[in-house]
This record gives sequence, C-alpha cells and structure tokens, in this order.
Amino acid sequence: RTPFPTDIEIAEAAEILPIADLARDRLGIPADALVPYGHTKAKVSLPFVASLADRPQGRLVLVTAMSPTPAGEGKTTTSVGLADGLSRLGERTVVALREPSMGPVFGIKGGAAGGGYAQVVPMTDINLHFTGDFAAIAAANNLLSALLDNHLHHGNALDIDPRTVTWKRVLDLNDRALREVVIGLGGTGNGVPREDGFDIVVASEVMAILCLASSLADLKRRLGDVVVAHTRAGAPVTARDLGAEGSMTVLLRDALAPNLVQTLEHTPAFVHGGPFANIAHGANSVMATRAALGLADWVVTEAGFGADLGAEKFVDITCRLSGLRPDVVVVVATVRALKYHGGVAVGDLAVEDLGALEKGMANLRRHLHNVRDVFGLTPVVAVNRFPTDTDAEVDAVVRMSGDEGVAAYAATHVVDGGAGAEALARGVVDAVAAGTSEMTFVYPDELPLADKVEAVATAVYGADGVTFAPAARKALARIEAEGHGRLPVCIAKTQSSFSTDPTLRGAPEGHTVDVREVRLSAGAGFVVAITGSVLTMPGLPREPAASRIDVDDDGRIVGLS
Ligand code: ADP
Ligand code: MG
Repeated sequence: RTPFPTDIEIAEAAEILPIADLARDRLGIPADALVPYGHTKAKVSLPFVASLADRPQGRLVLVTAMSPTPAGEGKTTTSVGLADGLSRLGERTVVALREPSMGPVFGIKGGAAGGGYAQVVPMTDINLHFTGDFAAIAAANNLLSALLDNHLHHGNALDIDPRTVTWKRVLDLNDRALREVVIGLGGTGNGVPREDGFDIVVASEVMAILCLASSLADLKRRLGDVVVAHTRAGAPVTARDLGAEGSMTVLLRDALAPNLVQTLEHTPAFVHGGPFANIAHGANSVMATRAALGLADWVVTEAGFGADLGAEKFVDITCRLSGLRPDVVVVVATVRALKYHGGVAVGDLAVEDLGALEKGMANLRRHLHNVRDVFGLTPVVAVNRFPTDTDAEVDAVVRMSGDEGVAAYAATHVVDGGAGAEALARGVVDAVAAGTSEMTFVYPDELPLADKVEAVATAVYGADGVTFAPAARKALARIEAEGHGRLPVCIAKTQSSFSTDPTLRGAPEGHTVDVREVRLSAGAGFVVAITGSVLTMPGLPREPAASRIDVDDDGRIVGLS
C-alpha cells in the first residue's frame, strides 16, 4: 500500500468545479448574485443574501468537540466529512467554516481547511490571502488606529488620555516582537508618543464584528460603538466620536459578503470570517450561516475549541445576538483524546488502552451533559477515527456514549471522504427528526456580568465559584455603569481542560475560575473575561512551518502540510 498522501497532495489532485457552475447547479444562485474571484472562489452578493431570509430555512448542525489534545480532534475535518456524507444521502447541504489565519499557517499548525479526503478547496488559496477579507479587516482596524493617533496629534479635542487607549493595531501573522511597541517617536512631526501593540487579525474586535453583523447598516453601527479609549474625565471614546465608522465600513463592504468554495466532493462551502475562540466567539460569520440556511436543507458549521468554549459561545453569544438556533450538536470525540483525559502521555496515545479510555470518558460525558442538559440541545457523538485506533477502542466509545443515551457513530472521512461519514450523517438526520432540541441560554441578559461568568463557570465548567482580581472587578463596575451590563460574556479559558489549569484532565471538580482581566467589546456586543494568559499576538516556534513552505518555478506551492 502506498503511503497516505499529504493534505496538499490530495487537494492539488482534486477536480474543482467552476464555482459559477456549482453555485448555479447546486444552490440556484443566479450569475448576477455571484462575484467570482477567479474560477474556483466567489462571493455571494449582499442583496442576494438578504433576499434569502424569506425562504424556508435549513437545519443547522453545530459541530463541536470534547476537550482536545494539543493536536486538535478534527472538528473541521468532521464538519467537511459530515457535509459530504449528507450530500451523499441526497440532502442539499452546505458547510460553513472559518477562514484560516496566516499566523498558524506559517507557524505550527500549517493549513486549516480540513485534512485527508475531507477538505475544502482550493486549499492553498483558502489558507493564503483567499479573497482578501483579512487584509480588509486589518486595514479597517488600522485606519481607526491612524485616526485616533491623528486626533491626538492635531490637538486632542476630545481630551483623550493616551494612557487609556485599548485599541491596538493588527497584522495577520505571528510576530511576537510587535506585541508591545512605542509609537510616535522622532519628534513633534511624528505624532504623540505612546505605548501601543499589535494583535493578530483573528483576535481583533473588527473580526468579531464582521462575523456578527447582520447587514452593512448593522456593521456600521457596531463599528461606531467600538470603545477605543477614555477621556481624562473618564468618559468612553468611541470610533463614532472619531468619525471613523463610515470609512471603516467602506473598507469592509466587500469583505462582509460570504465566500463560496467547495469540498473535495463538490459540496458547497462558505468559508467566511475567523474570530479566535477565546477572546472572541470562535464561529464563522453569521452572514455565511444565514445565507447557507436560506440555500440548503442542511447546514453544518463548526465552533472553535471544545464544547465548553466554542459551543457555549455559539449558544450564549452567536445565537443570542443573531437568532440562529442549532437543531443538533455533533460532539467530535477521538480515542486519542479520551485516553489523554484518562491520563495517558501525549507520546503514548497510539497504544491501545481500554482502561484509560474508560477513565477519560468522564470528559466526554460532561460535554454531553452540558449540550443536552445545560444548552437543551440534542448531542450526537462522532468518533473521528485515527489510523492507530483499535476496533475495541472505537466500539467502547460508541457503547459508553450509548450508555449516556447518546447515539455515537465512528467516522472515517479523513481516509474515505464522505462515504466514511454516511452513518454519522444518517444519525444526524435521525436525531433532528426526533426533534428534542429546545435551546436555552446559560444565563439571561439581565443578570449582572459577574453572575453571568459564575453561571458559565459553575454550570458548564463544573467549578465551585469564580474570583475576580481587583482590576477585573473595577472594569466590570465601569462597564455596567457605562450601560453595557446586558451584554453576554465571552470567557477566555484554556481549551485543554474544563478548569483554567490546562493540566487538569478529565472532568475536574472543586476548582475555582480566577478572572484576571475584563475587556469590553462594545461593537461586537460582548464583555471578555480573561482567565489565565491569553496571547492575542502569537509567536512563531523555533522551526516554523514557514521554513518548509515553498513555491516552484511553475507556481506550485509545497509544504502547506
Ligand atoms: P480542529 O478543527 O478540531 O482543530 P482539524 O479538523 O483541523 O481539527 O484537524 C486537526 C489535525 O488533525 C489536522 O491536521 C487534520 O488533518 C488531522 N486529523 C483530523 N482527523 C484526523 C483523522 N481521523 N486521521 C488523521 N488525521 C486527522
Ligand atoms: Mg477547526
């Protein structure tokens, strides 16, 4: 048997249908509603997307996961495989995913468009620049920075205290040397010196705003609401105060339209927006998911990290702000992650260990409980099968999930494409037909912000309680005094554990959630509560993927994992 081809080898060998044909034949999108970017990518026009609201809406499948190992458990691959599986059953299906950031592409992770025979294509384009959305977001973000510094330079009529500026510049690369910088050096002609910093584009509030906006008008309103600093008297200063929201919206007009591509098996795929799943809500744009629901009978979408983070934020932030409602939740589990949570070292995960698997089931069990009993949604387990898994291990996961009353299906889409996820697809259809999902938020709007954090910590993380550092308390009080107390909370926490300690595996109890810092994202519409350390500008590893990525004289790209 020949060695399994790499992701990029599979993607480059793919037959990609002309996007205009796919849009017309699969989704009935007329030519005048499609804005092609080359032959295999297109944006779907905003007026057409708006017109889809009146159509019958498809079913929404949310893909999330148990607490992952450092390698990731395959939510993206499973989302793509499941969508292809549904297509094979004859269901009109669209998958909606986040756009990859170039930070991880050139850092550790390599590409993020699925894997094996469960990928979206054109793979290299999607991983690199794509349709330019991230560049537009960076430009809009940095225009606001430039306007702010220009305001300070030209007399500071708003009396902004430069030490209170929270708005940072952004770049879509990992570059740790830019985390903290001093700007405005070199004399009076070069602006007002102050400390600044760079975040990665996917950590920016503009990214979160683009992904939550329901229209151009809503986008502009949200951009105007962004708080960038405070005055010396302590009043918030917004992007609107700086007159920035109109020109920022101009830069984002095209970026707001969802990007259409396809899977290796020609299932239509929206790949649009890509906010972090810690300090932001971690899901692709609402515009894309809404468009998909108007065009297809089934929409599969992914939320970042484990269900304690991505699914909770999908429910409490994305659904609350957009009105979306999942019909079923697919929880991706792997034999590897279960053994990891049962205490096995990362290097030993390829060895069969039914005892550790059973012990690690505590982690999956709590996620299933959360999905069903806390969020009110029907869970289905997808066992994403890796080559090293044994039949006995995979059978054990299916049986133990069944003991919890949750249907589980082994899936082999990475090796077999959509055919490997057909059983999962049937299971998803059956679960939706049973119709038991009745989504509930974890907390109501009117609960004080600190109590919202506590509600998530106790109900979802299994914590005993929450503590707030003095600065976090003060920030909460000010945010409530400024009128943002009804916003949902976005908790930034490690994805490796239900607790804030990444080394606590399984389903830890009796732990405390310590909130170190609180930030307002008034434009996006949430309040970020940070536990532990969150890097909003990652660094590159000692041997970055960039050193393996290359292009030959014919333009063929290699090394994108
Ligand atoms: P997530 O979306 O949860 O972060 P991905 O779907 O991106 O996870 O997968 C993470 C990595 O693991 C990718 O490199 C992917 O190719 C690989 N992977 C996922 N599922 C499998 C599998 N069943 N067999 C082998 N590799 C897999
Ligand atoms: Mg993913």
